[in-house]
Amino acid sequence: QSSALTRDARIFDLIEKEKHRQQYGIELIASENFVSPQVMEAMGTVLTNKYAEGLPGKRYYGGCEVVDEIEQLAIDRVKELFGATWANVQPHSGAQANAAVMLAVLNPGDKILGFDLSHGGHLTHGSPVNFSGKLYQPLFYGVEAETGRIDWDKVEATAVKEKPKLIICGASAYSRDWDYERLRAMADQIGALLLADISHPSGLIAKGLLNDPLKHCHIVTTTTHKTLRGPRGGMIMMGEDFDNPFGLKTPKGELRSMSSLLDSGVFPGTQGGPLEHVIAAKAVAFHEALSDAYGDYVRQVQQNAAAMAKAFVARDYTIISGGTDNHMMLIDLRSKGLTGKLAENTLIKADITINKNMVPFDDKSPFVTSGMRVGTAAATTRGLKESDMARIVEYIDTVLMHHDDDAKLSAVKEEINQWMGDYPLFQA
Ligand code: PLP
Repeated sequence: QSSALTRDARIFDLIEKEKHRQQYGIELIASENFVSPQVMEAMGTVLTNKYAEGLPGKRYYGGCEVVDEIEQLAIDRVKELFGATWANVQPHSGAQANAAVMLAVLNPGDKILGFDLSHGGHLTHGSPVNFSGKLYQPLFYGVEAETGRIDWDKVEATAVKEKPKLIICGASAYSRDWDYERLRAMADQIGALLLADISHPSGLIAKGLLNDPLKHCHIVTTTTHKTLRGPRGGMIMMGEDFDNPFGLKTPKGELRSMSSLLDSGVFPGTQGGPLEHVIAAKAVAFHEALSDAYGDYVRQVQQNAAAMAKAFVARDYTIISGGTDNHMMLIDLRSKGLTGKLAENTLIKADITINKNMVPFDDKSPFVTSGMRVGTAAATTRGLKESDMARIVEYIDTVLMHHDDDAKLSAVKEEINQWMGDYPLFQA
C-alpha cells in the first residue's frame, strides 16, 4: 500500500546506486567535485521551505529574519574569500549568473565578444543555441592552431574593430591563465565592460594560485560547485562597485550603481525566490574555502593536474597548449586515432569518468569530437596525490589502447574499484 508519506524507496535506492558509482569510480570530469558532509547537510534542511524574494533586510515575504542572517553570512564570507566589495549569491547556476549580468548591462542586439565554444568557451558566452547568442550579437576569439593559446593581440584587434559592449573572458576547457589586466586595457580603450566567468578555476583564484580577475574585471561570475567545492549554484561579484557606464537610469531618472543593476538582473530580472538551502550550503563551502586546509587542497589540485599532464605527454598524448596552469587539460586524441566519444564510452566501462570535448579546429561533430577533457578537482578531494595521477594515466592508456578487449577493461575496472574503495568519498 503506498501513500504520500511512504518512503520513496525507488528514488532512495537509486541515490544509493549513484553513491556507489561515485565511491568506486575515478571521477575526472573537470567541472565536478565532491562536497563535504556539512555542505550536503545544509542543502537537505527546512530552509528549502522558505520563500525570500529580495535581498537580506529587503524582502517581499515575512519570516525572513533567519534566512537573512544566513544569506548575509554567505555574502560576507565570499567577499572575504575573493577580496570582493560586493556579491550576489542567489544565482541558481553559472548560466543564471551570466544571464543576470547580461540582462542587467546589455540591450537586445548589443555586441558581445567571448571565447569560442569550440575552442573551450561556454555556451552562455554567445553560442547561437543559447540565450546569449540569440538575444545579443555574438563575436568570438579563439586559440592559435600552433600554440593552443589565446593571442591577446588578436583579441584586441577584434575588440577595437567590432567595439562590443561586453567582453567576456573565462572558459570551460582552457588550461592556461588569463591576462585580465590586458583585457581590461582593451575594454577601457573601447568603453566596454569586462566580465570574467571564473566558474572552473575559482577555487584556485580564491587562494591566489592564478591571476586575480577581481582586480581588473568590472564583473566576475562563477559557479560554486567546481573547484570551489560548494553546492551546485552560481554567484556574481565585483572588486569595486561603480556607476554604470552606459547611463542606464531608474524610472525616476537616477543613475544606478552597477551593484543595484546586477541585483535586479538576478531578481526580478531572471529569477524568482532564491534557494536559501543552497545559499546556506554556499556559506558553509565558503567557510571551508577560507581555511588553510582548503588552500592545501587547491594547491594539490594544481600539482596533480601538472603531474597528470606530464604523464600524458610521456605517453605521447597531445595536450592542447602543451600543458596546464590550472586544474584541467584538453587532450587531442587524433594522434592516437581515437575520438572523444569512443574514449568516453570505453573509459566508463572501467569506471573512469571523463567527458568527450571538441578540440580547437575540430573536424568532428559535438556528439563525436576529437578530444577529451580531464580535471583533478574531484580526484584530489578523494585524497589522491601526484604519483596517483601517473597511475590513472596508465589505466587510461591501457583502456584506450585495448578498447576492444572486454576482458582487459573488466580487469582494469576491478583494480580501480578496489583502489577507490580505500579512499573515502567525503573529506572532512
Ligand atoms: N560558465 C562556465 C565557464 C562553465 O564552465 C559552466 C559550466 O560548465 C557554466 C558557466 C554554467 O554553469 P551551470 O552548469 O551551473 O549553469
